[in-house]
Amino acid sequence: MKEGLVFDIHRGTTHDGPGMRTTVFFKGCPLHCTWCQNPESICAQRELMWNAGKCIGCMQCIKVCAVKALTADENGIKADRAACRKCFACAAGCPSKAMQAVGNSWEVSALVKEACKDRMFFIDFSGGVTVSGGEPLLQSEFLVNFLGKLKKEGVNTALDTSGYGRQEAIDKVYPFVDTFLYDIKFINEEIHRKHTGVSNKIILENLKFIADKIRRQKDSKLWIRTPLIPGATATEENIEEIGQFIRGELLDITERWELCTFNYVCKDKYVKMGQSWEYAEYTLLDSSTVKNLASIAEKYAEEIVVVSGLTGQNE
Ligand code: SF4
Ligand code: SF4
Repeated sequence: MKEGLVFDIHRGTTHDGPGMRTTVFFKGCPLHCTWCQNPESICAQRELMWNAGKCIGCMQCIKVCAVKALTADENGIKADRAACRKCFACAAGCPSKAMQAVGNSWEVSALVKEACKDRMFFIDFSGGVTVSGGEPLLQSEFLVNFLGKLKKEGVNTALDTSGYGRQEAIDKVYPFVDTFLYDIKFINEEIHRKHTGVSNKIILENLKFIADKIRRQKDSKLWIRTPLIPGATATEENIEEIGQFIRGELLDITERWELCTFNYVCKDKYVKMGQSWEYAEYTLLDSSTVKNLASIAEKYAEEIVVVSGLTGQNE
C-alpha cells in the first residue's frame, strides 16, 4: 500500500499520549461502538459530510449528481449513501464548502512532513506524533511505514488502538511505537460484542502479546484506556472486571489506566453524516458516579488510575 487514508489531523493535543502532540486520524474501523466519537472514521473509503451551517441552499450539488443520490427537504440536503458513487462532483462544485469529502490520501513522506510541522513543540513539551482513528491497524502496511519514518526522524510515537487487528501486524509495528494507548472496553465477551459489534478475544490476546514484548524488551510504554459510557462501560461490574484483568495480567508494565468520561461533542458530526446517534440525548456522567468508578479502579491499580474528560454536576 503506497498511500494511507486520513480523515483528520489535530495539532497541540494533550490527551493522546505523553506531552503535546500532533494526532493523525486514520480512516476505517472494524468496530462499531455505539458511542463512537468519530462516525466519519468508520468507513474505510472517502465519504460525504454535509454542514447545514455553511449551506446557502443553491442546490448546485443536486444538479451535478449524475446518479441523483442527493435530495433536499425542509431539513436540508440528504445523501442516499447506497446510491452514491463517491465521485465527489457535488463537493467539488459546492460554493460554500458545505458539502465535503471526508478522507484524504497521503503518501508516507508527505504525511511525515505534515505531522512534523510542530516539531519544535514536540521538543519543548516532550511530545510527538500519535496515530489514532478509526483503527490504524486496518492500514497496517502504511502504518508501519509511517511510524518507521517518524522514528528515523527521531520523533516520539504513540499508537491509539482498539487492539482489533492481526498479531502479525502488531508484531511489525511494535518496534516503532513508543507508547501504546490501548482500549479495554469490556472483559465480558458477549457485552463487548453487543456494544462494539465484535468479540474482544483477539483484543485481549493482542494485549497480552504486547505486554510480553514490553516485559522482555522494556522499550515501549503501555497506557490502558477505558471510555466511561453511561449504560454501557460505566458500570461497577465492568470496572471491577477490567481492574481484575489489569492487576492479574498487566500491572507490572502498565504506566497508566485512564478512565475517559463520556461527552457529546460529536453530536453535530452525526447530523453532518446524516446518521442518528443513540447517545444524542445523553448528558455527562455526574461527578459522584465518576468518583465511585475511579475508586473501584483504584482498588486494583491505585497508583496508575487517571480520570480524564468532563463530568456533570450532581443533582
Ligand atoms: S452546493 Fe453546497 S451550498 Fe449549494 S445546496 Fe449543495 S451543499 Fe448547499
Ligand atoms: S459523490 Fe457523486 S454520486 Fe455521490 S452524491 Fe456526490 S455527486 Fe452524487
